[in-house]
Amino acid sequence: MRHERTVIIKHPWLRRMRDDLRRLYRKHFFPVNFHPTAESEEILKKNSRIYRGSICECNSYTRINRNMIYNKPEGKWYCLECYQSMKAQNTKPSDWPLNRAEIRTFIKELAGPEGCQYDGRQWRSGGKEFTYARKILDSMGIPKDKQEDFLSLCRAFGGYCDCEILMNAVSSLLGEETLY
Ligand SMILES: [Zn+2]
Ligand SMILES: [Zn+2]
Repeated sequence: MRHERTVIIKHPWLRRMRDDLRRLYRKHFFPVNFHPTAESEEILKKNSRIYRGSICECNSYTRINRNMIYNKPEGKWYCLECYQSMKAQNTKPSDWPLNRAEIRTFIKELAGPEGCQYDGRQWRSGGKEFTYARKILDSMGIPKDKQEDFLSLCRAFGGYCDCEILMNAVSSLLGEETLY
């Protein structure tokens, strides 16, 4: 049995149409000129329940313009970004694509002269493409699919680029405070 269902729309024009329809749907449930009475509050509560259960908005962060995934056991919709990071955060370190020693080597390299040159005169970032991180993972002989899984994990811990891995993700990845 599959526990997830993903709905992805790629075409920009279709995405715009989808987002407009979602906004319309939201407007229907949450009218702007809403007059608060005991009865209307009750209706609003019910509407909110229906709306939150719909595909229109991510359950963990209210974004209306995202591709969505349905988590059956929970009965909730999430955007792909939130869902992937939730999933990564819930993975045990023993199931991570790199072991602790490898992560330690990786971090050291990433801070070093081949990476962000954290200790050098000219500090740099490889940006969202993870230019340095990928180069280092390559040099460590980590296969591409494992690299992708590992970078998802870094994102889940707030490392959205090379230098953010050092600034944000490193303490979660190593389970300890570090210098960076
Ligand atoms: Zn989300
Ligand atoms: Zn950066």
